[in-house]
Amino acid sequence: MKTIYLDNNATTKVADEVLEAMLPYFNQLYGNPSSMHTFGGQVGQRIRDAREQVAALLGALPEEIVFTSCGTESDNAAIHSALATRPDKKHIVISRVEHPAIRALCTHLGTQGYKITELPVNKNGILDLENLEKSLTPDTAIVSLMWANNETGVIFPVEEAARMTHDRGILFHTDAVQATGKIPINMKNNVIDMLSISGHKLHAPKGIGVLYIRRGTKFSPFLIGGHQEKGRRGGTENTAGIIGLGKACELAAKNIGTENIRVKQLRDKLEQALLKAVPQSRVNGDIQHRLPNTTNISFEYVEGEAILLLMNELGICASSGSACTSGSLQPSHVLRAMGVPFTMAHGSIRFSLSVYNTEEEVDFVIEKMPAIIERLRGMSPFWNQGQQACTNQ
Ligand code: PLP
Repeated sequence: MKTIYLDNNATTKVADEVLEAMLPYFNQLYGNPSSMHTFGGQVGQRIRDAREQVAALLGALPEEIVFTSCGTESDNAAIHSALATRPDKKHIVISRVEHPAIRALCTHLGTQGYKITELPVNKNGILDLENLEKSLTPDTAIVSLMWANNETGVIFPVEEAARMTHDRGILFHTDAVQATGKIPINMKNNVIDMLSISGHKLHAPKGIGVLYIRRGTKFSPFLIGGHQEKGRRGGTENTAGIIGLGKACELAAKNIGTENIRVKQLRDKLEQALLKAVPQSRVNGDIQHRLPNTTNISFEYVEGEAILLLMNELGICASSGSACTSGSLQPSHVLRAMGVPFTMAHGSIRFSLSVYNTEEEVDFVIEKMPAIIERLRGMSPFWNQGQQACTNQ
């Protein structure tokens, strides 16, 4: 059975070109880039090249790129540094829909004496900048808002938010883990201080990330150790991962203009066909301000996890907005923050595409999904009651 992978916001395939670029760094060019000898030194040169490739995708300077182990580490390092360099300030502003890499960290910091403000979003997942303005106080150390949401793809106006924050002398960080490679980012055009990337979301491997730190921003390292990354992140470099990420950024820079138009067309085709074929279905998240690859669709009165199981039987991979944690099915914090009604939130499926998806794959999903939903609704007492009520009216 062929796998149809529509879960690219969870992780992506390592691009063939990326894998090829990485392979020599495992068993041929395995020297330590910090070594004095030429064998290690040549690896150091390739790391410098990769730093330039990442910087080019972001419109950044190479020295503003710090390699980390993942998006979570980058997010943690940004918040940690803001608090360490501004020890007199005890307030952090985030949104209610941040990834756990920020939200769970801030919940923890809330137990350590920090005050956390979580900004609300509207029913389309959009952030109101007036609320941000009102939340800022002389005690605010940092504002951290994601560039694009992993569940809905909704894009936040982070460049405007950064300007507003900066005007008050407050640091601004953005989690751009989902945005990078999918929409243009040019750090020359904004005042964002720090930005997080994760390699495995853009066809590089797992275990490599980046924290962009704008030149001149005071930084306190999260991992203290050797002098690597100019003392901003101790630990022997993940050489192969860094080389792979550099290549992935080069590919993303090439793909962003052309392939993302194709990906968006495929996403739109899938979305429109499903909304048409399945009654009582709807898109979660603002249609305009959205990543080109993501659609989050709710099918009322069915269980997301049940849908995923039937999709799985056909080789179709996607994600659900409800997670069966400790026996209780809770809709995701993102859908709850948007006020998506319970019966809708439970039946939400996130489809996230990549440049590797084809029209045939999308057509297959369009063909199979309506029957899956119909079958599950046939078993749902809520759906049957609802239908009964309609016919009785
Ligand atoms: N931030 C966002 C928006 C994400 O979607 C993810 C991963 O799903 C992360 C952070 C964490 O990245 P990593 O898996 O590299 O730690």
